[in-house]
Amino acid sequence: MKHVTHWIGGSAVTGGEPAHLYNPATGEVSGTVDMGTAAQADAAVAAAREVFPAWRDTSLAKRAQVLFRFRELVDAHRDELAALITAEHGKVRSDALGEVARGLEVVEFACGIPHLLKGGFSENVSTRVDSYSIRQPLGVVAGITPFNFPAMVPMWMFPVAIACGNTFVLKPSEKDPSASLLLASLWREAGLPDGVFNVVQGGKPVVDALLGHPSVAAVSFVGSTPIARYVYETGTRHGKRVQALGGAKNHMLVLPDADLDLAADSAVSAGFGSAGERCMAISVVLAVDPIGDELVDKIVSRVASLTVGPGDDPASQMGPLITREHRDKVASYIDLGVAEGAKLVVDGRTTPVAGGVPAAQAPGFWLGPTVLDHVPVGSRVHREEIFGPVLAVVRVSSYEEGLKVINDGEYGNGTAIFTNDGGAARRFQNEVEVGMVGVNVPIPVPMAYYSFGGWKASLFGDTHMHGTEGVHFYTRGKVVTSRWLDPSHGGVNLGFPTNG
Ligand code: NAD
Repeated sequence: MKHVTHWIGGSAVTGGEPAHLYNPATGEVSGTVDMGTAAQADAAVAAAREVFPAWRDTSLAKRAQVLFRFRELVDAHRDELAALITAEHGKVRSDALGEVARGLEVVEFACGIPHLLKGGFSENVSTRVDSYSIRQPLGVVAGITPFNFPAMVPMWMFPVAIACGNTFVLKPSEKDPSASLLLASLWREAGLPDGVFNVVQGGKPVVDALLGHPSVAAVSFVGSTPIARYVYETGTRHGKRVQALGGAKNHMLVLPDADLDLAADSAVSAGFGSAGERCMAISVVLAVDPIGDELVDKIVSRVASLTVGPGDDPASQMGPLITREHRDKVASYIDLGVAEGAKLVVDGRTTPVAGGVPAAQAPGFWLGPTVLDHVPVGSRVHREEIFGPVLAVVRVSSYEEGLKVINDGEYGNGTAIFTNDGGAARRFQNEVEVGMVGVNVPIPVPMAYYSFGGWKASLFGDTHMHGTEGVHFYTRGKVVTSRWLDPSHGGVNLGFPTNG
């Protein structure tokens, strides 16, 4: 049985009550994780604070060298990281490898930190006076991350934060904490000084300790909307800079002129990949009349051929859900949807999983791909984030009606339009109130050099993750106006400085 600890000041540290870790594919306990307290949070912040002055003054060249070495090490340990993720999260191996690859892209972006931190310089803003802007690190910054991407989401944050000269305390999800420790040991091997990257395992007590800690300058959070709102409100009340990314309900609008095979492939891939436990999963298909029946037939025939099974079986395309409670909650939306007037066209409770046992009876936290058609607009199945393999199809009569359904929603994380009409696509990108938009692309996750984030209840704060917005979040601007004395020095002047 494994025992997952904290990582403070460059070494593994125990502390706090142990909680069970599970293999979601079998439902069996696979180990324990130490649930930290304020004591571990304090220790990690102290370690990070102690080394901050030295790390912020480490040259850009040396910081970049550490990042390049870290990049090589993560690359060399892709399989090991993916295996840890599959064992605790349940996602299939190819999906786990995919999240490592996307996280690695942020490390690669952060390797360019010498270029990213270049400031501006204006000569002669006044006679023989120059002005220049610089960006400086904040100090100790914290990251609090969800279960669904235990490697990638932390890697949206810490490569950029550390490259900018900050020191970092990560509070990973307590459901799949092992990847964070492997990443910590790889940082050490890469030559990152002890204390620059720390991990505190646990839940709310650790989060609260970080949010109230006077030495934590900024907090990055990714998780559900209620906790994102709480983290944003609590962190900002304590004077911290906070970016808090929340939940989602992503709609895919399919116009009648779309390639329906592409749309069906995309709906199934984006609806059921990672068992729907992605913040960019498509959870609602808006089918514009008259293509609804044909599109649903195409989706159903594809769903019928999906293989659901343990993530470490190469034949599996979809694994289990994260916990029994979450599986039960997701499954409860099936009966709810029917009660709300939807038509159940594929029932994932009966999907055979490994060994042919129906999902609802199999040991482990299983639910197969489920499709509800004719889901009423505004029903709970339509509105609420289910975060599982339940795809809702909503029928709409026009582009305008579909757009209104999306824009009336609480969330604004991702969306996609499927069409062959460039004018409609352009109109959609202009009119839709969502942060990340796909055109014939169902999961439009921005590349590392752009920034990731939604609108409305999908993001509290104003800075998205990684890309130049990430650099901005983890640094403060400073503008210097400088004059080196010369014979034209003109004596006292109480007027407001103007250029001359
Ligand atoms: P969660 O909100 O339950 O947990 C996220 C983090 O907050 C974890 O580290 C957890 O330990 C901590 N936490 C939980 N309850 C807390 C509390 N009461 N007080 C303080 N901290 C608390 O989210 P989850 O179930 O781990 O992840 C799934 C959610 O994350 C979904 O809603 C999904 O949409 C969202 N998500 C969003 C994005 C995005 O980019 N917007 C990306 C990935 C996941």
